[in-house]
Amino acid sequence: MNQSALYVVSTPVASTSLQSDLGRALERDQFELHYQPLYRVDQGRPYIAGVEALLRWRSAGQLVPPLAFIPTLEATGQIVPVGEWVLQRACRQVRDWQLAGQGQLHCSVNVSSLQLEQVGFAASVRRVLQACGLPSASLILEITESQWVSDSAQVKACLDELVSMGVRLALDDFGTGYSALSCLLRFPLSILKVDRSFVSGQPQSGKLHAICRAIIGLGCELGFEVVAEGVEEAVHLDFIVGQGCHYAQGYLLSRPLPPTELQRLFN
Ligand code: C2E
Ligand code: MG
Ligand code: MG
Repeated sequence: MNQSALYVVSTPVASTSLQSDLGRALERDQFELHYQPLYRVDQGRPYIAGVEALLRWRSAGQLVPPLAFIPTLEATGQIVPVGEWVLQRACRQVRDWQLAGQGQLHCSVNVSSLQLEQVGFAASVRRVLQACGLPSASLILEITESQWVSDSAQVKACLDELVSMGVRLALDDFGTGYSALSCLLRFPLSILKVDRSFVSGQPQSGKLHAICRAIIGLGCELGFEVVAEGVEEAVHLDFIVGQGCHYAQGYLLSRPLPPTELQRLFN
């Protein structure tokens, strides 16, 4: 079934009723995670190396996509408990898949800058990993470039603590925010995700190709692993592979899927 058909058309306007419905969504167990595979593409035949957990809200029988409600969760601070739920659920799911035979599978989880600013965030990640038995090296935390504003000593210490535990950090949507290249040096990143606007934009656009090529080259030169997001067509895949990109994610390979559907791709 095409999951995207279930989505409601919605705006990010935070009406009072949206806020109050969202406020109860966690206790009502209305959140669910879909998973989109990340394929390793630089070692011959592409294979699933990891999955990214993507949050959905089931409201009045319909599946609401994250961009319609995450800004409200951010504005109300609820992204902190919801983000903790996402982390727990995703780590447990990936650990189950590892034990079922996908031993090397990585788990990517999006985190809000608000979560990183919470005192004790790194300790809470450690607790989640211990509770579900997921090796820290299996966890990748994705931080969206456009959100990355805080340069405080506390956030820096939190990121350093996560990395010392063995967790890896990815800079998501690279190229859409401030593109502050100093971020690439200042923070202990190991993965760069090229925003899909540069990957699946107009295929004939020489300028987009140039930017995509430059970002992949920059990431590789800096020793990062590079992921191309938004790989929708075979030409996109050919292009990024030709540039030395390590991983690909996108509708060509798979849309985000509920766990039962995703696991069929393992075999
Ligand atoms: P993201 O982390 O960059 O996730 C990738 C988004 O691109 C997903 O949208 C995915 O469905 C979409 N996508 C993947 N491949 C393609 C493709 O080939 N073409 C196109 N057009 N789109 C593709 P989704 O699931 O709607 O998520 C949107 C954003 O919401 C995410 O972007 C992430 O920033 C945020 N988000 C999702 N789950 C969470 C979460 O648990 N916590 C936080 N803080 N943010 C989340
Ligand atoms: Mg992401
Ligand atoms: Mg992204």
